[in-house]
Amino acid sequence: MFDVLIIGGGAAGLSCALILGSAHNKPYAQDKKIGIMTHQKTSHLQTALFNNALGLLPGTTGTSILEIGKIQLKTLYPHVEQIDKEKVVEIVKNDEVFKVRTNRSEYTSKALVVAVGYTNLINIKGLESFIEPHPRAILEKERIWLKNDNHLIEKGLYVAGTLAGWRSQYAIACGSGAQVATDILTLWNDGKDSQVHDKI
Ligand SMILES: Cc1cc2nc3c(=O)[nH]c(=O)nc-3n(C[C@H](O)[C@H](O)[C@H](O)COP(=O)(O)OP(=O)(O)OC[C@H]3O[C@@H](n4cnc5c(N)ncnc54)[C@H](O)[C@@H]3O)c2cc1C
Repeated sequence: MFDVLIIGGGAAGLSCALILGSAHNKPYAQDKKIGIMTHQKTSHLQTALFNNALGLLPGTTGTSILEIGKIQLKTLYPHVEQIDKEKVVEIVKNDEVFKVRTNRSEYTSKALVVAVGYTNLINIKGLESFIEPHPRAILEKERIWLKNDNHLIEKGLYVAGTLAGWRSQYAIACGSGAQVATDILTLWNDGKDSQVHDKI
């Protein structure tokens, strides 16, 4: 049973996982089981090239971010379980526990972060009732969001990145994933605001 399972290994999902993983020395996060489904095949980063993202060298490719992101997570925070090459097909909530079915297996988690991007090709059973037209994208592209309030869809169910209703910029998607991570850490910390900083 995971305490939190992140679905999607793109900008928002990996950012969320890195921040959650980095809290491993905090007493309230130490015993938490964190997982991420690092499916990357349909990430918008696959074809992106970056010249306008702070901290990234101009010319950085999205594919290199996807690859390095997983390595960074594995190297620095190996306690975050990476589930590779599985696609979520169904989410069912029963008694405050989410059952996540993939094309290969099944998992349970107390909380979920859905970060699968804002295309209308989404076909995860169980999310249909939250899908609406995206509030901040060109109508013709038929983008979608999962209706939420500050990333929270319902108790224990979060959405991050473009699917949360944000415009498609890398920094915004990463920030959204980071925001959800600190919201979850704050919850684990009995409601006391939480953030994770490393110092020189
Ligand atoms: C061509 C192009 C160029 C771009 N250039 C720039 C730029 O110059 N500057 C800038 O700031 N931004 C740029 N962007 C935008 C940036 O790439 C996106 O804003 C960002 O990737 C969105 O992050 P996300 O996490 O919301 O979605 P994504 O990065 O798309 O991640 C979604 C993840 O969910 C996974 N997934 C999907 N379905 C499932 C499922 N059923 N189960 C499990 N996992 C699933 C996908 O494989 C993917 O890894 C560009 C985008 C494109 C397409």
